[in-house]
Amino acid sequence: MRGATNARLLSGETLLAGVVGRPVRHSLSPRIHSAWIAAAGIDGAYAPFPIPETGFRRFVDGMRGGVVRGVNVTIPYKEEALALADAADALARRSGAANLLLFHADGEVEARNTDGPGLIQALAEAPGFDPAAAPAVVLGAGGAARAAVAALTAAGAPEVRLVNRTVERAAVVAQSFAEARAFAWGEMAEAFRGAGAVVNATSAGLNNENALTDLPLAALPTSAVVMDMVYKPLETGLLRQARASGRPTVDGLSMLINQAAPAFEAFYGAPVPPGVDVRTLCLEVLEPGG
Ligand code: NAP
Repeated sequence: MRGATNARLLSGETLLAGVVGRPVRHSLSPRIHSAWIAAAGIDGAYAPFPIPETGFRRFVDGMRGGVVRGVNVTIPYKEEALALADAADALARRSGAANLLLFHADGEVEARNTDGPGLIQALAEAPGFDPAAAPAVVLGAGGAARAAVAALTAAGAPEVRLVNRTVERAAVVAQSFAEARAFAWGEMAEAFRGAGAVVNATSAGLNNENALTDLPLAALPTSAVVMDMVYKPLETGLLRQARASGRPTVDGLSMLINQAAPAFEAFYGAPVPPGVDVRTLCLEVLEPGG
């Protein structure tokens, strides 16, 4: 079989995992996981599973028994993933959402949330950042914002200030956390005062590099880390402005890669192999020719 000598061939014992969502074709997760699988020499595969509307429950029921080890879960199924699982870790319960489902051999479906730890590890890339040192600001009140509040409070944040366009939704999320307070969008400057980090968990900057360029950054301490969960574009308008003002920034791709690592370990029973530049592999797709 000329030409196939360097390819890693699947066997009868290949460990299977993947990502579910709607749509899922733009997901970077298959690229990240297959690079790690190849570098670690694992007999494994990671595939995209596009799930049609109303088909998620059938998919999860069909996976019971562990033929597929597990899946990452993306929009719009993270809340349903938690609801369908038999067991869940504390962060998934506190977030009200799961981005990882594990299918055990006895039929149990276990839900975990690795978005939260992924966020905290991404923030830790900013030199000197300590989540326990100052209040954090989270923009948004959807599933990603709730996971951010859960992770930041678990990491010791003394207060999390939730700012959302629809303040009533922020108030609902804040009710679940003793350390959280809701702010209206117009009260953002007040929320920024004395904060150690701002995390954009809205979808406002998605495919729109001019969104969120009018935020009152002057009210934010110059040492505060600014992070955007959106990674299309990689440098969002918010990150561009924060960087121009000299503040440390962290992009959404760092969070994506950091949330993938514990999932890989759960799927394949091996640590993420060192030395694989998955960030550059993702940038080849996000910023072709860039
Ligand atoms: P979601 O549940 O749909 O929530 C969207 C949020 O964005 C809501 O709070 C909404 O405010 C707000 N919003 C939308 N357009 C806005 C605008 N023009 N101005 C101000 N606020 C606006 O979405 P989600 O699941 O929480 O995800 C949020 C974002 O995080 C998505 O872009 C997602 O791709 C990203 N994400 C990234 C990662 C990663 O690994 N990097 C992980 C998870 C999520 P209202 O309540 O007022 O409508």
